[in-house]
Amino acid sequence: MPRQCEICNNARAILRRPKTGQRICNECFFYVFETEIHNTIVDNKLFKPGDRVGIGASGGKDSTVLAYVMKTLNNRYNYGLDLYLLSVDEGISGYRDDSLETVKRNKEQYGLPLLIVSYEQLYGWSMDSIVEAVGRKNNCTFCGVFRRQALDRGALMLDLDHIVTGHNADDVAETILMNLFRGDLPRLGRCTEIVTAGDGYIGRSKPFKYAYEKEIVMYAYLKHLDYFSTECTYSPNAYRGYAREFLKDLEFVRPSAILDIIHSGEAMQVASDVQLPTLAHCERCGYISSNALCKACILLEGLERGVPKLGIAKSARHAQELLANESAMKSAGKAVEPVHFELLRGKAQAMREQRQMKEQQQECHDCTATSCAFACDDDATGLCSSSKETRRCACADSNAETNAAAS
Ligand SMILES: [Zn+2]
Ligand SMILES: [Zn+2]
Repeated sequence: MPRQCEICNNARAILRRPKTGQRICNECFFYVFETEIHNTIVDNKLFKPGDRVGIGASGGKDSTVLAYVMKTLNNRYNYGLDLYLLSVDEGISGYRDDSLETVKRNKEQYGLPLLIVSYEQLYGWSMDSIVEAVGRKNNCTFCGVFRRQALDRGALMLDLDHIVTGHNADDVAETILMNLFRGDLPRLGRCTEIVTAGDGYIGRSKPFKYAYEKEIVMYAYLKHLDYFSTECTYSPNAYRGYAREFLKDLEFVRPSAILDIIHSGEAMQVASDVQLPTLAHCERCGYISSNALCKACILLEGLERGVPKLGIAKSARHAQELLANESAMKSAGKAVEPVHFELLRGKAQAMREQRQMKEQQQECHDCTATSCAFACDDDATGLCSSSKETRRCACADSNAETNAAAS
């Protein structure tokens, strides 16, 4: 006998919700899934009206669903956000080039502007060429560091206030387990935060922090969203792989395990005697960094000098030693000097001022020019300079209508 939906008691239940085990209908699933994301956004005050928000878009299921849901919620609840798709092209042939085609289709499907920044363009090195130089073992380190900075660079190019990423509850729970197993307390403290400061200027958050991966896949499938589902062709992060399998086993026995781990992680406090790094700026590129050179600059330096181990060195001191010992400078000559962050921040600031000026201008009542409407305080004619020449400015006569009639 067909079951009724446990939420609306009306339609036929067609699925069992992974997070709660409830048997519900399609429409109720969409509604509860979207509403939980909305609640996460509102409860954590992720945005304010007028914010320019970039969606980190890879073409994969998480970010595709995120783009769709962000657009839906922005319209439904009038968040007043300007949404953008922001993609990073790591330069991995057969993987990222295909997934970027998906993002380009999403751009059309959702009507959102898209910016793609590439490792090649930013650093002079694509992941393909990095793997050629360092092998398959440590390339994830390069990719992770470069991606983080690339997103911040893209965000400044678009003058964004905020970036959202598709990290889901499974990702967060995995990271908590990994940091716990490694005893990495500073990271354990940070990894449960829903908003993290990227560049230190642009906030970054995870609206899917409490959304189960299985439900994201289900949502994408039932909504027929267009996404790309191939894994990265280079070596996966082995340690995370173990944490993932362990988590899947726990979820199988007890579906609430994922949320339980997140709540436990949130409740753990980093003891005050744990040394947290103090943050300054990289001498070379201006990115936020706890050392003289940021991780990306050290990795680039290593690549250029033919000492790729440099950036993977255990400590900053070890890295300095490696650099000092490497007398022969084997420049690969690939690197482009990454644009300094101060310059990017300056440009973003200039763009912001220009936008604000434009907002203050209005269209001329006569023609559609937008040049001069409020040239002086009293000038509320709403006429552009050329239209005004043929009439008189409202400073001389308080009523523009009169002017219009007189001419
Ligand atoms: Zn229902
Ligand atoms: Zn740097």
